[in-house]
Amino acid sequence: MNQDSYQTLPERLAAVRARIGAAETRFGRTPGSVRLLAVSKKQEAAAIRAAHGAGQLAFGENYLQEALAKQADLADLPLEWHFIGQLQTNKTRPIAEHFAWVHGLTSAHHAERLSRQRPPDLPPLKVCLEINISGEDSKGGVPPAQAAELLAACRQLPRLELVGLMCLPAPAVGEAAQRQPFRALRELRDRLASLDCPLPVLSMGMSDDLEAAIAEGATLVRVGTAIFGPRH
Ligand SMILES: *Cc1c(COP(=O)(O)O)cnc(C)c1O
Repeated sequence: MNQDSYQTLPERLAAVRARIGAAETRFGRTPGSVRLLAVSKKQEAAAIRAAHGAGQLAFGENYLQEALAKQADLADLPLEWHFIGQLQTNKTRPIAEHFAWVHGLTSAHHAERLSRQRPPDLPPLKVCLEINISGEDSKGGVPPAQAAELLAACRQLPRLELVGLMCLPAPAVGEAAQRQPFRALRELRDRLASLDCPLPVLSMGMSDDLEAAIAEGATLVRVGTAIFGPRH
């Protein structure tokens, strides 16, 4: 890991892309079927600009004020912004206005506000439901048993496009242990998906466990540290 600090950002980005490609091959996934979301929270706008220069278009941010400031700095670039932090009721409007995706939807109340506040000139906001798949009290997300109810509430909303599920499991050591919650999320998705609501996206996997997530069907991995280095 220490050697990472001697690499440039484009080299680290290329290394992450190579890890994704190798995992696709190893686990029989279609090449190119796993998207990379570069998690740029607590990183400078200049680092995002450098990643864009190396071909990265999708960026994930957790903190609204920080994200809005960087979006203003980078307004000349055609970036796709994903909100991956915890939602708060009083911040749904700027999120509906300034992001293409929300990954951590956990309540029908937030869903209803986001749909109502989504500007009419933008495409529907893509959303993933965040599931508390490993059942820890401290973690965000709805319990798996409540997912169907939230799904039903979100499907009614005209300005949201419900695309899939997201999870943020507790860190685990070793691929077998890491795969467990990701497999559970995929199995939940398979139970919830229907013809009129297919839930194609599984947003799961980060710097330390993206291979395990890809093994279990991730279609989008959210990677920060491995691309940008330690956060400021
Ligand atoms: C910070 C964060 C990540 C990225 O984590 P790394 O370990 O730096 O890759 C991914 N998803 C969410 C929701 C995060 O908050």
